[in-house]
Amino acid sequence: MTSPKIILKKYFGYSSFRNGQEEIVNAAVSGRDVLVLMPTGGGKSICYQVPALTLPGCAVVISPLIALMNDQVLSLQANGIPAVAIHSNQDERINQDNIQKASKGEIKLIYISPERLLLDIEQISSRIQVSLIAIDEAHCISQWGHDFRPVYTSLGCLKEKFPGTPLMALTATADRLTRNDIANALNLEDPFCWTGSFDRPNISLKVMNDPGKKQRLKIIASLIEKYHLDSGIVYCLSRKKTEAMHEAISEMGYRSVCYHAGLTPQQREMAQKAFVNGDVQVVCATIAFGMGIDKSNIRWVVHNNIPGNIESYYQEIGRAGRDGLPAEAIMFYNFGDIILRRTFVDSSGQKDINNEKLDFMQRFAEASVCRRRILLSYFSEEVTHDCGNCDNCNTPRRKFDGTIAAQKAISAVIRVKYQESLNTIIDILRASTRSDIISKGYHLLKTYGAGRDMTPAEWNSYILQMIQLGLLEVAYEDNFHLRPTPYGMKVVKGMERIQLSSYEKPVYGAKSKKLKPEPAPILSPDEQLMEILKKLRKDVSSTQNIAAYMVFSDATLAEMVRLRPVDIESFARISGVGEVKLAKYGKDFIGEIRKFEGLKRTMPIGTSQKETLILFDSGMTPEKIAEMKGIAVQTVYSHLIQWADKGKITDFRRLVTESQYSLVVKTFDTDPENAFKTLAEVNHLPAHIIRAALAEQRFRSQ
Ligand code: ADP
Ligand code: ZN
Repeated sequence: MTSPKIILKKYFGYSSFRNGQEEIVNAAVSGRDVLVLMPTGGGKSICYQVPALTLPGCAVVISPLIALMNDQVLSLQANGIPAVAIHSNQDERINQDNIQKASKGEIKLIYISPERLLLDIEQISSRIQVSLIAIDEAHCISQWGHDFRPVYTSLGCLKEKFPGTPLMALTATADRLTRNDIANALNLEDPFCWTGSFDRPNISLKVMNDPGKKQRLKIIASLIEKYHLDSGIVYCLSRKKTEAMHEAISEMGYRSVCYHAGLTPQQREMAQKAFVNGDVQVVCATIAFGMGIDKSNIRWVVHNNIPGNIESYYQEIGRAGRDGLPAEAIMFYNFGDIILRRTFVDSSGQKDINNEKLDFMQRFAEASVCRRRILLSYFSEEVTHDCGNCDNCNTPRRKFDGTIAAQKAISAVIRVKYQESLNTIIDILRASTRSDIISKGYHLLKTYGAGRDMTPAEWNSYILQMIQLGLLEVAYEDNFHLRPTPYGMKVVKGMERIQLSSYEKPVYGAKSKKLKPEPAPILSPDEQLMEILKKLRKDVSSTQNIAAYMVFSDATLAEMVRLRPVDIESFARISGVGEVKLAKYGKDFIGEIRKFEGLKRTMPIGTSQKETLILFDSGMTPEKIAEMKGIAVQTVYSHLIQWADKGKITDFRRLVTESQYSLVVKTFDTDPENAFKTLAEVNHLPAHIIRAALAEQRFRSQ
C-alpha cells in the first residue's frame, strides 16, 4: 500500500497534510468510522480522496449537490484519478456504464446522490468492492441543521448494507446538536471524531448599520477595486434584490453575474462558470450560490441583508479567503431585514428554533464586543482573547452623551401615539415631506424636524442602540411599532442620562466621489506575472474544456508568482503540482515564467539530467519526457541509464519489457561478440532499449 503522504504529492501536488487531515486519513485507512467537522475551505475532500486512493477498491462519495458532482469528478480526473459520477441528471447509459467500470475495479471514486445510492444499493453492494463511504454535507441528516434533507435519514441503513466498510461523515456545520445527530443517525461505530477549529482568522469581520443604497454601492465598488484581480460575492435576500444589485453593479461598469434559484440550470451553470473562470468580478447571489465551489481567491463577501442564522452567515463568509490570504466580510445591517426575516420564520415549519437562531444573528449584528468571539462561542469553541480583526476590535466606538438624541427620538415616538416604526420616526425627526407624513399631520408635531442635524444613517444607528439599551422596544406583534419602556420614559423626563456609541461614517469609497470605475491601476510585477499566468490558465482550460481552477488553483498560481520556478525541478515542488499536471502543463507555465524573468522561453536542452529523473519519478514515460523536454527519446534513455547505474532507478519495467530483457540477456550469453548487431538487425531492438536491458543486468548482478 502506498503511503498517504506519497499519494498526496503524487496526485494532488501537496507536500504536507493540513491540520487533522493525516489523522483522519489514517483512521479511515485503518477501517474506522470517522466524523469530520471542518469549516468550509478546511480541506475536507482530501480526507476521503486520499484514503480512496490508498485502499483497494472504490470509494463511494454521497453528495446532495448534483450540479457540482461533475465538477468534482473533472477536478479529480485532471489529477489523473479515475472518478465518475452517478446521478439522475445524466444519461442512464452513462450511469450504468460507470457502475460497470467500477465493478471491474477501474474506478477509485464514485460520486453519487443519496437518492440514487438508495435506488442502486443492492447493485452497488454486490458488484462493487466498496473501500469507504463518505457522506458529504452530513448535516443534511439532522433536523437541527439548517439544511435538512429527508432523504438523508435513509442513510442510516449504510452500516448494515456495507458491514465492515468504514463510513466517513463530513460537514462544515458545527453546532453540538447537529454533531450528535449525525453520529447517531448514521449508526457510526465508535467513530474517530475530528473537530477542526472553525476560526478563520484571515477573514476580517465587519457589520455596518445600513448606510443607504448609494453608500452600499460605493462600498462594494471600492472592494471590487481593492481586489481588482480577484472576486467577491454579494449575498442578497431575494431573487429580485439579487437582480437589482447585479444591475446596479453592472451599471457602474463592473463585470457581474446573477445567481439564484429562479434561473434555469443552464443559466446557473453559465453564471457559475463565468465566476469560477474569473470572467466576472462579482456574483450577486441568493444563498443558493457557492456550495462546493472550489474557488480559493474570493477575497470578499458582502451581505446586503442579514442572514437568518449564524450557520448560514459563517458558511457564506467562509467562501472568502479559502487560500488563507486576507479576506473581508462586510454585512449591512438594516432593522427592516430583521422584521422581514421574522415573517419568514413565522411561516416556517420550525418557528421556535428559527426564531432563536435569528435572535442570535441579530445579537451578533448589534454587538459591540469582538465579533469573532461571539461566532466561535456559538460553535462551542473556547476563545480567550479578542481577535483584533473585526470592526469592534479595531475601532472601538467613541461614546458620547446621547441623552438629547434619545429625548428627541422618544418624544417623537410618544407623539405619534406608538403607531409608527423606525423609518417613519426617522423621517419625522428629519422633517421629511413624504405624503403620508403630511397627510397624517405629523408635520405639525413639535418634534418634526427636531433631528435635522443628523443623517438618516446616524439616526438609524442611534435608535437601534436605544432599542438595545432598553429605552425603546419593538412591538413585533403590532407592525413593529416603537414604544418607549419605563426606562425610556425616565430618560425623556431627564431623570437618567445615557451614552451612545458614535456613528462612524463608512470610510470605504470615500476617495471615489463618482460611482465610476477608476482607470486600471498600475500593476506590480507580481500582479503582472499573475495576470500572465491567469491568462495562460484560461487558454489551457478552454482548450481542455475544463474550469480554470481545475488546471491550477489560484493558491498554486500565487506560489508560482512567489517562487518563480524556471525549471522542472523547482516547478514540481510547487504546492498543487502533482505528476499529471506537471507533465501536462509544466512546460507552458515554466515557459511563461522564464520569459517574464528575461530568460529564453525554452528550457536549455539537455542541461539537466536531473530533470529527466524528476519527471521519470513523477510517473512520466520516457517518450513523454522526451516530448516535454523537446529532446530525443534516446537521450532520455541515456540520462536514465546513468541514473540507474547510480542506483536511482530500480523499476526497469518502465524502460524495457520483461521479454526484451530476457532476449538481450540470452543473446549476450550465447554470442557476446555479435549480440548487439543481432539484436538490432535481427530482432529490431533499438540501441537504447538494449542499453537499458544491460543496465538492468548490471543492477541485478550487484
Ligand atoms: P472543504 O470541502 O472543507 O470546503 P476543500 O476540500 O474544497 O475544502 O479544500 C479547500 C482548498 O484547500 C482546496 O483548494 C484544496 O485543494 C486545498 N487543500 C486541501 N488540502 C490541502 C493541503 N494538504 N495542502 C494544500 N492545499 C490543500
Ligand atoms: Zn474581534
